[in-house]
Amino acid sequence: MTKPYIIALEEHYWDAEVATHFKAPPDASIPAIHERLMDLGALRLKDMDEAGVDFQVLSHGAPATQRVDDAATGVGLARRANDRLAEAVKAHPDRFAAFAILPTADPAAAADELERAVTKLGFKGAMMHGIAHGKFLDDVSFWPIYERAQKLDVPIYLHPAVPHPAVVEAYYKDYLKDFPGLLTAAWGFTVETATLGIRMVLSGVFDKYPGLKIVLGHLGESLPFSLWRIDMALARSFNKRTPFRDTFREHFWITTSGNFSTPALICCVLEMGADRIMFSIDYPFVPNLPGPKWFETVPLGPEDRVKILSGNAKRLLKL
Ligand code: MN
Repeated sequence: MTKPYIIALEEHYWDAEVATHFKAPPDASIPAIHERLMDLGALRLKDMDEAGVDFQVLSHGAPATQRVDDAATGVGLARRANDRLAEAVKAHPDRFAAFAILPTADPAAAADELERAVTKLGFKGAMMHGIAHGKFLDDVSFWPIYERAQKLDVPIYLHPAVPHPAVVEAYYKDYLKDFPGLLTAAWGFTVETATLGIRMVLSGVFDKYPGLKIVLGHLGESLPFSLWRIDMALARSFNKRTPFRDTFREHFWITTSGNFSTPALICCVLEMGADRIMFSIDYPFVPNLPGPKWFETVPLGPEDRVKILSGNAKRLLKL
């Protein structure tokens, strides 16, 4: 049997200069993870080859430039980091593509940087992380970025970051000494990013930009499981009318990053359709090897397998 071609698109690295601008999340302090975040060459390619991951769409890890609040600093920083990432892609164009980081402290400049990254550097879209400068990314001040993404016909990948300090205090603090992971991938990330996904739909941004395409990782941050209930509750007469479930299914793509659960995947296939799901790992926070191994066991037919492993990403990102 020939090995299927595998594209993964939530695969992180750190830019040394950008990383001086944020406090590392606990996961990144694990030496094997940190070493891999800083590598865009031999070690990464070896890990990909061992697992049969043919192609990575590279993105900076959270929070990237979403907490660089000084616009003047953020604009130059994002530009330099995107230029360096483009060099890494250029060294291995058959193995890597990239999502840009954006200086969201200045949304107009962020839209321009998205355009530069796509048209000049060949990037496939951008990734933004969690709360940016104290605001959710559905805030109307960020809409110039979505307008430009629609114009360029590239997706925006909305990725988690550590929750708002007030949420940490109220919801998680008493458990963080023993379970710091609760703040991040175990639960904090999911709540934060699912909330952002819901807010994006309610904001009306998809009415304004009907061509806008959003990607969520981690099998949709639990939203496919909850779509029916959200839709039902928002349809009650005291709410403004919104076709929530239809809007979500029209504008969102999801990836398997860091969520190799067959029951959850089957829920996503039933709710979103196999055309909207793309294989991903969340390397190096999640090691490559278990991803393709898990996918071999998934009870889907050959056409859907090819779509999820590479076909949908090729179409969405024009690879
Ligand atoms: Mn990730």
